[in-house]
Amino acid sequence: MHLPISPQAQYALRALTDAGFQAFLVGGCVRDDLMGVQPHDYDITTDATPDDIKRVFAHCRLVLDGEKHGTVSPVIDGELTEITTFRADGDYTDGRHPDTVRFSKKLGDDLMRRDFTVNAMAWSEATGLVDPYGGEADLGRKLLRAVGDPRRRFEEDALRILRGMRFASRLEFQLAPETAEAMHELAPRLSLVSRERIFTELTGALEGRRAMAVLDEFHDVLFTVVPELFPLYMCPQKSVYHRWDVWVHTLNVLDQVTPRTPVLTWAALLHDCGKPQTRMRDRKGFDHYPQHQQAGAKLAGEILTSLKASNAFVKDVTTLVLWHDEKLNAQTAKLLMYRVGPERFEALVSLRRADIMAHAPRVFKDADALPGALARGQQALRDHECLSLKDLAVNGDDLLRLGLRGPAIRDTLEDLLLRVLKDEARNDRDELLGYVNPA
Ligand code: ATP
Ligand code: MG
Repeated sequence: MHLPISPQAQYALRALTDAGFQAFLVGGCVRDDLMGVQPHDYDITTDATPDDIKRVFAHCRLVLDGEKHGTVSPVIDGELTEITTFRADGDYTDGRHPDTVRFSKKLGDDLMRRDFTVNAMAWSEATGLVDPYGGEADLGRKLLRAVGDPRRRFEEDALRILRGMRFASRLEFQLAPETAEAMHELAPRLSLVSRERIFTELTGALEGRRAMAVLDEFHDVLFTVVPELFPLYMCPQKSVYHRWDVWVHTLNVLDQVTPRTPVLTWAALLHDCGKPQTRMRDRKGFDHYPQHQQAGAKLAGEILTSLKASNAFVKDVTTLVLWHDEKLNAQTAKLLMYRVGPERFEALVSLRRADIMAHAPRVFKDADALPGALARGQQALRDHECLSLKDLAVNGDDLLRLGLRGPAIRDTLEDLLLRVLKDEARNDRDELLGYVNPA
């Protein structure tokens, strides 16, 4: 390893070796280290059985959630350290999990069951790098290649197809041709994988820097797991404001959007998903998509719910989709902050920027107003300006006293709030009451 190894991982390796066992760093941490990236955690693999590991770390608090898969995790200096017994997988018949897992005494068995060559390397002080499948050479070529026969590996566990997309996107690697071919071919087997796992890996793929290229190459895989998005593909967008069809535009928004959070990258992917169902071509031959935001928010909600995303996540993304197409500048900043909620306002500005920059060049100048919008929104928060009904200087009782009843009260309050948000009125009780027509 080139970079310093965490003291906890060093301690765990030493404790196992001192007790007479083999112990290696394995997987992502070895890969990241060779790439010059500081690993975010260290996985250890060993010939010690789970019972052995428990004995060696008897003085530590032990987390045993993964014990039946061979993982015992001592908490060393406050840090959870995953230690897993060498495993050799049995046959796979359900397309996702091995029917049996056998503990092994050989590192080679454990590396053989791993997904990609760059993830199938191990390291120990005594042996140095153990790299039976040419992972280091593949790292140098920025190549993601399945360990062994790719068809067989994706047949065993179809989740690896999406993991391939995730790593290609995040590491900015290419898929080796034979591996890519097998991913396309075996994509239908993703129906055997749980929706939660699909969502997690897809989210990882979206967040990566190379998401656009990967989703372009593997759009068929995406449409297998999210068939609702297939209509975007080649959906025409004939308009002077656009230079690409809806799918290519979507990929470009995804490419531009930053920061690459799960919410923002999903919002980028889904922002125009309502366009195919709302498209109308006018007499001059141009396309329009009336209310595609509403249709899109609804469809985005259905897609994310089917992927078992949390309610909060669904709310975040659908809110951004619903308001993505509004004009955003210093004048409209507070209104949109009210529409999406202050906590989502920055994300809306980011999505707007990416969306604008994926239009035709004549639209790019709309982005010039975004810094002003952001500043106006931040100022409103800082100065505790009125941003919702509860901040309004007038309330329901005031309107009751003026003789208003029922829905008229709600509508009038909303109307007064909009005036304040648009800076057409000050949040002043007398001024606002002056706008009210008594019943
Ligand atoms: P990250 O930095 O994203 O955590 P990672 O390589 O550590 O990357 P994990 O998903 O944490 O990825 O998996 C840890 C290791 O376990 C992988 O490097 C790989 O060797 C192995 N692995 C995980 N899932 C699978 C799978 N479905 N099939 C085969 N090997 C797998
Ligand atoms: Mg990991």
